Amino acid sequence: MKLAVIGTGYVGLVTGTCFAETGNQVVCVDIDERKVEKLNNGIIPIYEPGLDVLFNRNTAEGRLKFTTNLAEGIEGAEVIFLALPTPPGEDGSADLKYILKVADDLGPLLKQYAVVVDKSTVPVGTAEKVWLHISRGAKIDFDVVSNPEFLREGVAVDDFMKPDRVVIGTKSDKAKAVLNKLYAPLVRQGNPVIFMDERSAEMTKYAANAFLAVKISFMNEIANLCEKAGANVDDIRRGIGTDSRIGKRFLFAGIGYGGSCFPKDVQALAKTAQEYDYDFKILKSVMDVNSKQKSKLLPMIKAHFDGDLKGKTIAVWGLAFKPYTDDIREAPALENIRFLLNEGAKVTVYDPEAMDNVRNVLGNQINYAHTSYAALDDADALVIMTEWPLFRTPDFGKMNLLLKNKLIFDGRNVYELDQMKEVGYTYYSIGRETVT
Ligand code: NAD
Repeated sequence: MKLAVIGTGYVGLVTGTCFAETGNQVVCVDIDERKVEKLNNGIIPIYEPGLDVLFNRNTAEGRLKFTTNLAEGIEGAEVIFLALPTPPGEDGSADLKYILKVADDLGPLLKQYAVVVDKSTVPVGTAEKVWLHISRGAKIDFDVVSNPEFLREGVAVDDFMKPDRVVIGTKSDKAKAVLNKLYAPLVRQGNPVIFMDERSAEMTKYAANAFLAVKISFMNEIANLCEKAGANVDDIRRGIGTDSRIGKRFLFAGIGYGGSCFPKDVQALAKTAQEYDYDFKILKSVMDVNSKQKSKLLPMIKAHFDGDLKGKTIAVWGLAFKPYTDDIREAPALENIRFLLNEGAKVTVYDPEAMDNVRNVLGNQINYAHTSYAALDDADALVIMTEWPLFRTPDFGKMNLLLKNKLIFDGRNVYELDQMKEVGYTYYSIGRETVT
């Protein structure tokens, strides 16, 4: 099939590359000229494990191409994916300006029947809006389908190639048939393609992300209570996660969720509820809990240093909002670093993939170390913000030689308490006793 993907970010590039891998002819379109130039020169602008192998193969074999020209990109395409940003607007609702702009542009360019697919996360009713905007300029038949994307950054290629399920919202049999054929190679193990109407598909994506955010925030609240009640949140996680009704995943306590999806999607769903005059109480609590949780370590750090961080050097391990990505959008690390700087601390950071992105935001306000150990040199404390596997089994002997104090504030519960007692560290974590 001939496909076009409009928007070549985390979702668009993975979508385009993976559909090229299943034999389709794909053109990715982006307005960012520098990004397209890089892609045309074989440079992948994001870090996503496994993407390079597929990208190199499919560009080399001519199935995957990039352009800034929309008309050229959609020429002959049977399916046109919209993988455009839907950032929060001023009132918290999803801003549809990127989507509707492309919808306006697409109308007059359509030359034959095409299925236009909303892959972006968009509020209920967007497919109808996109249809209206395209129809203003279109002279031919087309369908607009909601096909939300559930990939996780860090494992996006695997998630895309072997999705737990594919959700397709459309009332059109013609569009259904086209997308069924397109997705067939990805669901050969029998994972379902679930058809529904457009509005339900749009809501499914928000319900999924909001539910996961609830799960995380619930566990963070349990952790906060554990600290007061003298219980260990990790034991509780094991105790409840083995219940198949609850499940093991998304039960890790920490310094809150971040990233480009959960914060904005929870906020957008809350806004949708408000628009429909529904008081969605859980969502309000989740946002409140998460925003407090993000800065949870800071009072601990400050209290440890008797309220004065001036002149202290703090090493930070982990900047990305989660491991295996370079994405720092809404990453708790950034907020925490800014706080430390405001308190007069010096900050030295290390992250395996996200350093360049942070450099673009914080510039020379902080120091960037070449290795995890180099970040510790002469630091008064280590703060862990992202649970990269690299940080899990460090050489404590080496760390002792570099750090001024054997002191760790762990926002992701990377270490066991017994282990910390053994190596003689003062260790603050989330929802567990402090090791002194
Ligand atoms: P992104 O910011 O990484 O990429 C969006 C791309 O669209 C950018 O490259 C931008 O230059 C391009 N763009 C903007 N306007 C354009 C235009 N007029 N024409 C062509 N290109 C244009 O965003 P993303 O993370 O890929 O997310 C895209 C959508 O997918 C969002 O709605 C997001 O909520 C959703 N989503 C994201 C993830 C994720 O993990 N990142 C997962 C599922 C769903």
